[in-house]
Formats: sequence, C-alpha cells, structure tokens
Amino acid sequence: MKIERIETLVCHARMRNWVFVKVITDQPGLVGWGEATLEWHTRSVVGAVEDLASLLIGEDPTRVEHLWQVMWRQHFWHGSGIVRATAIAGLDLALWDIAGKTLGVPCHKLWGGPVRDYVRLYSHLGGGKMESFYETPVENAGRFADLAHEAVEDGFTAFKAMAVPPTMPIEGLKPIRAATACVAAIRDAVGDDIDVMVDCHARPSPAMGLQFAKAMEPYGLYFFEEPCWPESVEGLAMINAAVSTPIATGERVTQLPAFRDLFARRACEICQLDITHCGGLTEARRVAALAESYRIALAPHNPQGPVSTAASLEFGFSQPSYIICESVHSDVPWREDVVEEGFVVDPKTRTVRPNMRPGLGISIDDNEVRKHPFQQEALQRVFYRDGSVGDW
Ligand SMILES: [Mg+2]
Repeated sequence: MKIERIETLVCHARMRNWVFVKVITDQPGLVGWGEATLEWHTRSVVGAVEDLASLLIGEDPTRVEHLWQVMWRQHFWHGSGIVRATAIAGLDLALWDIAGKTLGVPCHKLWGGPVRDYVRLYSHLGGGKMESFYETPVENAGRFADLAHEAVEDGFTAFKAMAVPPTMPIEGLKPIRAATACVAAIRDAVGDDIDVMVDCHARPSPAMGLQFAKAMEPYGLYFFEEPCWPESVEGLAMINAAVSTPIATGERVTQLPAFRDLFARRACEICQLDITHCGGLTEARRVAALAESYRIALAPHNPQGPVSTAASLEFGFSQPSYIICESVHSDVPWREDVVEEGFVVDPKTRTVRPNMRPGLGISIDDNEVRKHPFQQEALQRVFYRDGSVGDW
C-alpha cells in the first residue's frame, strides 16, 4: 500500500478555519482524515502540509511511527514550531485513521483497547458561540450565571468560563474582585455538584495569576487554566504550589522536552495537550506516558473541528489518566453536516460511548466543506487602557 496523494480542505467555521487533511492511498476508497486547524495561521499550515507531502508520497501509510520520524527530522528543521507541529499532527492523525481502517478496528483498540466505559465532555459557556464565551464582560456576573445555567440544562456536568479579564503586569483590586464575583455567581447558580473551570488564556502575569488563583480558591474550581504565559514555567510552578486548585496548561506546547520541563517542575496538575498541535497522536501517546510518571492528568484542548474531537476521544479511550475532553457544539449550526461520527454522545449527561468504526470512525463530506471556503479569521486584539499590547 502506498500514499498516492495528500489534500487539505479548508472549512471556514466563523472563529476558525478548520484545516482537514486527507491522505489518499492507492487502495480503492481507502483514505485517512486528519485535522491541522491553527487559527490565524491557516495559509501557513496548508503550505506546511504541502511541504511535508514531499516526504510522504509513495510511502507505506501504515508505518506511522516511521513516517512521524521522517516528518520531524528529515527536513533538517525539527518539527517543534507551532505551524510545522500542527501540520505533522494533521498528517499523523490521518495515518492512524488509515492504520485502524486497514486492520478494521477503532484506533483505541490499536493502543490496548478501551480503558473506560465513557468519556466525559465539558463545554464552554455558550457552547462554543464566540460572543458568549469570549465577549461576556466580567462586569456582568449575572450573564455568567445565566450561561452556566444553560450549560447545565444542556446536560453538561462541567464547563469552562473566561472569567479573568486582561490585566497589565500589575493591577489593583478591581479586576480581582470582578473575576471573583463572576465565579461566585456561577457557583451560586449551579451548586457544588457541577465542575467549574476558569481559563485565564495566559492573560495575567505570574503575580496577577497568583492573585486570581488565590481569590478563586474558595469556589473549588475543577481546574484553573493558563494563569500566566506558557513560557513562564517557573510562574506556573509558583502558582501551582501556592494554591490547592489544580493548575492546567499545555495547549500551546509542541514537543516532548517542553512537556518534560513542565512536568519536572510541577508546573501543572492537568496537561491540556492539543492532539492537533503537539505533533499528533504519535507524540500525544509519548506525552501521556511521561505525564503518567508524574501522575499528572490529561484533559486535551479541543475547541477545533470534528476530526480533532474524534482523535481526542480515541485517545481518551486508551489513556488511564485522561479525565475529561473539551468540546464545542454551538460554534457553527452546520457542524453536523460536514461530518459523520462513529461515537455517540448522550445528550442528557454529555458523556461519550466509544466509537466502534475503524480508525477515527469519522468521514468528512467534501461537498459540505466546499460550501464554507476560507475566510480570514476575525482578529482578536487586546490593548490595555494606555494603548500597550495585551494578551487575548
Ligand atoms: Mg485555553
């Protein structure tokens, strides 16, 4: 069997352009689907997949690890940059999809079989609708409470809120009080049985992240995400040591040695590796083994498209330390038109039963994708009140 052709299909989904990667083999009808979505880098990722294709055409697609090594090492520049790591991931997912299809089993069965009966999903407030999640101001705690109610009514037992505003490296009490009021309103609205997470989007400095984390501690967050820049491993470690709330990070980390540094310095309790950015399922399995040795939990970052979700779930059914999967369902109303999925979500509990179809268990409808051609993603720019640059 040989790889005959590699295509990318770009599908504009409001906040992101989903980049689907299709690996076509010389066997009639046998294709693999991957995803390499990287918002605001769409054109570069498509180009990176095209560059990598020169290494893969004519090769046996079932030699997944071998081809991963080829992609990572054989263009001289290693694959750790975010664009190349994402492109490698897109191709790697498609190769695992083909491997499963060739053997007639779902991917999680290639990795030792299911380790759990179901995977739990969590949502964004607003279900992934860009405006609800990213644009609800922290001054409006009541709106956070309403959206939290909606998430629980939608069946979710866990959800995430962007309740921490952008702040300069040092600010006074006002943003701390506003963010805490949002979390208090959410907790009040949903009670103690629901797991609440806060994503700081790495907006705070370590000093501000520590203050936010301490102020929110009484509300028993399930996790507190990216309380400072991912590059500040010592800042993350300092915050993780200072509060009992588990710190989560890892969505922007792309290579094994960087995960090793994060874990060795105990900078998090939850690793949010992104399977479409960290080098794919091949690298994710190595990261998971490393995390296991530190007893660090896995909760993949997954606000992207449907192939990313299918891969994150196949991974979850194979990994004992996996606790929950991020999901969005209200990003675009036609999400289900572009994909046919092998897994089943129980809408009452938002839990997922394992896919029984071969590979990743999904198929993408090329014709539906073509209805949503590339558009420039909406810019999300933050400037502080004095005009200096902030983090989104
Ligand atoms: Mg995040």
